Amino acid sequence: MAGEAALSYKRVLLKISGEALMGDQGYGIDVPAVTKYAHEVKSAMDLGVQICLVIGGGNIWRGKWGVDAGMERAQADQMGMLATVMNAFVMQNALENIGVRTRVQSGVSMPTICEPFIRRRAIRHMEKGRVVIFAAGTGNPFFTTDTGAALRAAEMNCDAMLKGTQVDGVYSADPKLDKNATKFKELDYMQVLSMELKVMDATAISLLKENNIPIVVFRIRDQGNLAKVLVGQAPSTIISGRK
Ligand code: UDP
Repeated sequence: MAGEAALSYKRVLLKISGEALMGDQGYGIDVPAVTKYAHEVKSAMDLGVQICLVIGGGNIWRGKWGVDAGMERAQADQMGMLATVMNAFVMQNALENIGVRTRVQSGVSMPTICEPFIRRRAIRHMEKGRVVIFAAGTGNPFFTTDTGAALRAAEMNCDAMLKGTQVDGVYSADPKLDKNATKFKELDYMQVLSMELKVMDATAISLLKENNIPIVVFRIRDQGNLAKVLVGQAPSTIISGRK
């Protein structure tokens, strides 16, 4: 099985949305759900893959919520970035509880609680077998954590960005709402952009396209799936420039 097959990637960035951390709750952090993802990351590490993480913040705060309530966008987005730091910490705890060594690096400097993002130091951590969790997205408002993930994947010379979602790939429409929705096995970056498929925002896709980093969209909730993705055995959609 997964352990015996050849690894498709040596270094990957895994992006998990904030919503995945709320499990079946409607809001916030569900620690058992986070623990489940931590085990997924551990099995990936056990295969010998270097792995870094970006976690969203949508389970706690999205800039849009503030804007809709009359807040200034930049400050509402800064709150969103702070939410991702909380998520990074809960994931750090869950990983360390099962013996995975980690570091959190934040795009917004907060030196008393975690390291700032320093690219070369992050690479060194990964070489030493630590999982680096990148918090606070890009560190700038007006962006998303998908774009933050694309940026860090490029900076860290990752072989792929893995996007763990609630569905097992990219569909022509929302499979929960449309029973005729069909799944794409492979897509080109340009198809994602021109068909306006709701995988991630255009800024993130463009950055990954420019740096020729493939995106693997897969279902994160199924146990063992992350390890299967790493050996090319999980149901997924692969977005690249080589279709
Ligand atoms: N955010 C930001 N800059 C970034 C990344 C995130 O301002 O580089 C803010 C933005 O307000 C966003 C919130 O953080 O709504 C939470 O991130 P996101 O919506 O990407 O989380 P996800 O949907 O993955 O849970």
